[in-house]
Amino acid sequence: MPSTGTATILILGGTSEGYALAEALAARDGLRVISSLAGRTAAPRRPAGELRIGGFGGIAGLSTYLARERVAAVIDATHPFAATMGVHAAEACAHADIPLLRLERPAWQPGPGDRWERVNDWYGAVFAVRMLGARRVLLAVGRQALAPFALLDDVWLLVRCVSRPEPLPAFAHAELLLDRGPFHLDAERALLRERAIDCIVCKNSGGDASAAKLQAARERAIPVVMRERPARPALPTAPSVDAALAWLAKRL
Ligand code: NAP
Repeated sequence: MPSTGTATILILGGTSEGYALAEALAARDGLRVISSLAGRTAAPRRPAGELRIGGFGGIAGLSTYLARERVAAVIDATHPFAATMGVHAAEACAHADIPLLRLERPAWQPGPGDRWERVNDWYGAVFAVRMLGARRVLLAVGRQALAPFALLDDVWLLVRCVSRPEPLPAFAHAELLLDRGPFHLDAERALLRERAIDCIVCKNSGGDASAAKLQAARERAIPVVMRERPARPALPTAPSVDAALAWLAKRL
């Protein structure tokens, strides 16, 4: 419970931006900073300030939490593909009249020489791989999105994930590569060359940590099947931690 005169900020985290914002705020006088993680990672890095882990129990659970902790402002710094949490935050904050900011890194945009096939769901990505006639695909979609790609039974898949998918879909031809960003350009170039990759499937996460594969693909004229971001509620949005700090400064 916050002491009198202390403003409580809730950061919905799970991204590098969420950690950076907690770091920037936690040392400030008069603020109580709570980061919230979904609990998907077994041993997550601890953010600066307080940490809570696990779902809130839908919009109702989040509303109860915001009231109990007397939250003064919420920063939704969840990943661009974490669409449900974004909707819940918008609903709960609107209901309780709590200021809410979305902290979201800008999406990647194709540049000259890029060959992107943009899709809106993972079955669309499977279809695009087929249409492109790809034979050896780097699949960088996250472990929860893998199942539709088991349909590609005549394509070899290099499945890159942070941790082992449980269960691993029944791929006909695949290699599992457990690795965590940031990924560097030279390593991405070598990966595409050594595994003879002829297509990349990924999601438009934005940011620098996993952007090198796009440049490596451009250099080899390899197509990229790019899953676009899910729709989110229309909210004030900051593209950087500095912009989020400026927004908070006006409200506290
Ligand atoms: P999601 O589909 O938007 O959320 C599903 C449920 O997980 C939410 O309804 C909520 O449960 C709980 N949840 C999500 N984020 C939470 C948070 N920060 N604190 C407490 N509960 C949270 O989210 P997701 O795609 O499964 O992602 C889960 C987490 O992983 C997110 O925090 C996100 O930032 C991080 N992440 C996701 C991706 C991705 O590609 N999806 C990539 C990197 C990191 P209740 O309804 O019970 O409150």
